[in-house]
Amino acid sequence: MVNYFNSRILLQPNEVPKEWVNILPDLPSPMTPLVNPMDGKPAPPEMAFAIFPKECVLQEVSQEPTIPIPNELREIYASTYRPSPLHRALGLEKELGIEGNDIKIFYKNESYSPTGSHKPNTAIAQAYYAKKDGLEELVTETGAGQWGSGLSFGCNLFGIKCTVYMVRISFNQKPGRKILMRSYNAEVHASPSRFTESGKVFIEKDPEHPGSLGIAISEAVEHSLRSDKIRYSLGSVVNFVLLHQTIVGQEAKVQLEKVGAKPDVIIGCMGGGSNFSGLMIPFARDKIHGTLPDVEIIGVEPRACPSVCKGEYRWDFGDTSMKGPIVKMHTLGHTFIPSPIHAGGLRYHGIAPIVSILHNNKVISSVMHHQIEVIEAGLQFARTEGILPAPETAHAVKETIDQALKAKENNEKKTILFNFSGHGFFDLMAYKEYMTGDLKNYELPNEEIKKALASSEMPQIDESQF
Ligand SMILES: *Cc1c(COP(=O)(O)O)cnc(C)c1O
Repeated sequence: MVNYFNSRILLQPNEVPKEWVNILPDLPSPMTPLVNPMDGKPAPPEMAFAIFPKECVLQEVSQEPTIPIPNELREIYASTYRPSPLHRALGLEKELGIEGNDIKIFYKNESYSPTGSHKPNTAIAQAYYAKKDGLEELVTETGAGQWGSGLSFGCNLFGIKCTVYMVRISFNQKPGRKILMRSYNAEVHASPSRFTESGKVFIEKDPEHPGSLGIAISEAVEHSLRSDKIRYSLGSVVNFVLLHQTIVGQEAKVQLEKVGAKPDVIIGCMGGGSNFSGLMIPFARDKIHGTLPDVEIIGVEPRACPSVCKGEYRWDFGDTSMKGPIVKMHTLGHTFIPSPIHAGGLRYHGIAPIVSILHNNKVISSVMHHQIEVIEAGLQFARTEGILPAPETAHAVKETIDQALKAKENNEKKTILFNFSGHGFFDLMAYKEYMTGDLKNYELPNEEIKKALASSEMPQIDESQF
């Protein structure tokens, strides 16, 4: 018998986890350093201190297996939206014809945060450390606006100024996110802008320049170097962001224990890799330690941007403008311009180095799906569970449905856990295009990947120099 009173598993505010899980000391092969693009050698910490809040830089390279979450920060999580709920997807299970207790689907609901995604988990932590360092402003770039909204919310909680350079085409096409950021007192500029030298180059040539994430990053970094009271902020990829997101997996573990469940499969969508890692890292550590040896951990990518599934593991620039550090990761090449799929948060050419290393060592695996089947899965979820997923999140939903149906066909018992990274209330155009038959699939041909990776702009790093 299914127990409906166990279908929404809540924790009390005082159960906000006390620590983040740092996977660095447990990685099966060692973490690679961030490399300085100026000399091709590992970037010295002083460089990073000029760009990021101090504590974040220390966390980036820490070898402590756990890092305490400061109590003040736990209080802020507790007073705003954490712990987030864990749901048993009983409506979806019924629709898939798997009702009963043999195949169970659970999802961690990160859409529960005020800005509708997991992004505030790190935004609040970064704003907290910035405030502690006596900084006055954080600056960042945003594409679709999820990260910009998260950071605006986080900075506003601590009375820190937040400046966001938003890719102009999104600035014009997604006014909702811009208004949300301004509601939290953020200053939002369409990028390229006239406020930086990097932006001026483009905007003076073409006042309607659509912009790109690469240009927006250059503008944000240039802006951050203007004053010692300003720092730059990143929403994914780097170790300290993944660390902050492990609050998600820590909570999920306790919630599953409350109903006596153990995951067989863990699923998340991958853009830069932060929400997927946040959920899976605490379980991946158990897998490495042998206490959860058989858990299958799957990251999901769009077929239009399959960094891990089809990219090469090599050194590449983290950003398109080649100003930031060089990172060893799975990449499609920083010159690659992804097709305009609706899952804007998954259109990144690379992936977090931690995800790459876990993938190389077969702790995790990756799959990819097409945009149309993903949006169909998103609608199926909305109709059965009530929440319309972000197009990014719908990738995880699609893989979850596939896994559940596979288990049904094979008569297997299976518990599936996935990360519901955010809702899609600002992404209704994706669903509208599906309904009007205008949504298209994009597949990235292998020749294009080869071409981007053969570009003369790809960095050549000599590791024997380290
Ligand atoms: C930003 C975002 C993503 C992708 O970023 P990751 O760092 O890979 O998590 C996925 N889902 C939602 C809802 C997002 O806002």
